[in-house]
Amino acid sequence: MTETTRFMDAALEEARKAAARGEVPIGAVVVLDGKIVAAAGNRTRELNDVTAHAEIEAIRQAATSVGDERLTGADLYVTLEPCTMCAAAISFARIRRLYYGAEDPKGGAVDSGVRFFASPTCHHVPDVYSGLAEREAAEILRDFFAGKR
Ligand SMILES: [Zn+2]
Repeated sequence: MTETTRFMDAALEEARKAAARGEVPIGAVVVLDGKIVAAAGNRTRELNDVTAHAEIEAIRQAATSVGDERLTGADLYVTLEPCTMCAAAISFARIRRLYYGAEDPKGGAVDSGVRFFASPTCHHVPDVYSGLAEREAAEILRDFFAGKR
């Protein structure tokens, strides 16, 4: 198993844990120097906080753990294409590489929608790798919403 696969697996695990809590199943991990320094899933319902997306939660945890608002050299793995808010947070946190699973044509902002990183007002652009464990990431979401109906 490659490192990348292992870290995306950890993000998928966070997505499954979010589903078990009744949250939209999206998970994220932050990796620094080959180690996971933060792992989180969506907590918008639990916290009554629309900003508590997996990526934001993981970035907050990582920043606390590192003791710096900037996560220079850190990589973020997330199961779904980040939204506009999270793409901005990823840029502000100076994330080095972004790995995401499934595309989100409805809410994504990296390769879909506003394509935040390509905008002239985005001052730090991470390297982006998409399509990791894409099927599994999409399946977790599909199963969750199918169960709701
Ligand atoms: Zn988001």
